[in-house]
Amino acid sequence: MTDDPAFNDFAVAQGQFDRIADLMGLESPTRRLLRQPMHEHRFQMPLRMDDGRIEIYEGHRVQHNDIRGPSWGGVRFHPMESIDTIRALAMWMTWKTALVDVPLGGSMGGVACDPHGLSVNEQERLCRAWIRRSGGLFGPARDIPSRDMMTTAQHMTWMLDEFEAVRGEHAPGAITGKTLAAGGSRGRPEATGYGLVYLVREALKVLSLDPASTTASVQGFGNVAQHFIELYHQIGGRVMSVSSWNQREGGAYAFRKSDGIDLGELRSVASRMGEIDPEKARGLGYEVLDGSTWLEQPVDILVPAAMEHQITKDDVARIAPSVRVLAEGANRPTTPDADAQLLEREIFIIPDILGNAGGVICSYFEQVQNNSNYYWRLDEILSKLDRQLTSAFIAVADLSGGKGLSMRDASLVIAIDRVATLCRERGWV
Ligand code: NAD
Repeated sequence: MTDDPAFNDFAVAQGQFDRIADLMGLESPTRRLLRQPMHEHRFQMPLRMDDGRIEIYEGHRVQHNDIRGPSWGGVRFHPMESIDTIRALAMWMTWKTALVDVPLGGSMGGVACDPHGLSVNEQERLCRAWIRRSGGLFGPARDIPSRDMMTTAQHMTWMLDEFEAVRGEHAPGAITGKTLAAGGSRGRPEATGYGLVYLVREALKVLSLDPASTTASVQGFGNVAQHFIELYHQIGGRVMSVSSWNQREGGAYAFRKSDGIDLGELRSVASRMGEIDPEKARGLGYEVLDGSTWLEQPVDILVPAAMEHQITKDDVARIAPSVRVLAEGANRPTTPDADAQLLEREIFIIPDILGNAGGVICSYFEQVQNNSNYYWRLDEILSKLDRQLTSAFIAVADLSGGKGLSMRDASLVIAIDRVATLCRERGWV
């Protein structure tokens, strides 16, 4: 843990909001309203363990703002979960849903626990307790929990089952990120990584670069990274290097091949959690390097798709002069001081709030399908996703070009303006 405010997510989120509010000349009541979450809930969750003991877990749900629609946001199971991170993520979710123009607000929740230390039955009871002990917070027209860090489609399906049992009626839109059979959406696994490729394609148009002549280096080899690579290869790009975490050694490795990586080949030597086996990769002809070297590759596009705080001010000098685009798949991969240096280097940034919004959009599609009880084909979902992200990109790029704002600031101005305008129209401020 560090005391550096650059690593306190809520301080970063509020600092970012204050800066944009100044830039927009936002009036005082709106500032005071949007700077804090509207509701915060903490609830105790007694859980009977397999050996008969009772453990007490603590759940949190923060609803930042729901003026644009029911609040929507993940449930995280993580031993180090902090209320400040949840507050920040709830605020960022309000901006993200507004930016991509889906009629939802922003919330986030979590339980401080390590699901790996719980049996399957204990995990099921924890998910059911999350619904029962939350005090009736949730519902398709109120607040919709979704899958997030260390929660799975199975967890979300147990939550839905409990919700419907308590309510005595079907309400599949109450929870998103469910299994397909329980009403999950086609395209959800692909949505975030493919969405990032649609945005990279648009960024390359702005820079007059042909995707087929570009190369990329990717941090991470999980859901977002693998789907990014899959579609980026289909549009002609070449990924030269990827990195992944190695649990046994408590560090990361980067894997590089001189003519570009082969996705199928690396998938065949990776675990379900996206951990690539270094020995097996070496056997396939990959160079195995220190994990942080993903950042130094002489490519056109860098794609952080692993975790937060991966590009700090000390890292920027390591980025090769060839890099033209930083496509943020992970949440908060770049610290604010690194961000300022990247702008000086004129690297085109697709900020996280836009870059990984494909997942939110597809979750919204899941809810729409659930509420109308009519399910779409994969090709329909992907083309709707492409249209929605592309129009968000064009709005951000136009504002950025027109007003001389960074892509990150332009994204936030659009999002905050949408929320603030509705607050005024509905008479909240
Ligand atoms: P994941 O758990 O499927 O994969 C994470 C990958 O990152 C794994 O391959 C892991 O080995 C690797 N990794 C972890 N630490 C690393 C390190 N220090 N160096 C190199 N590799 C490392 O996760 P995901 O779903 O792909 O999500 C990745 C990021 O994208 C997270 O920040 C997540 O919050 C964000 N995100 C994901 C979605 C989504 O739909 N999955 C949506 C929005 C945002």
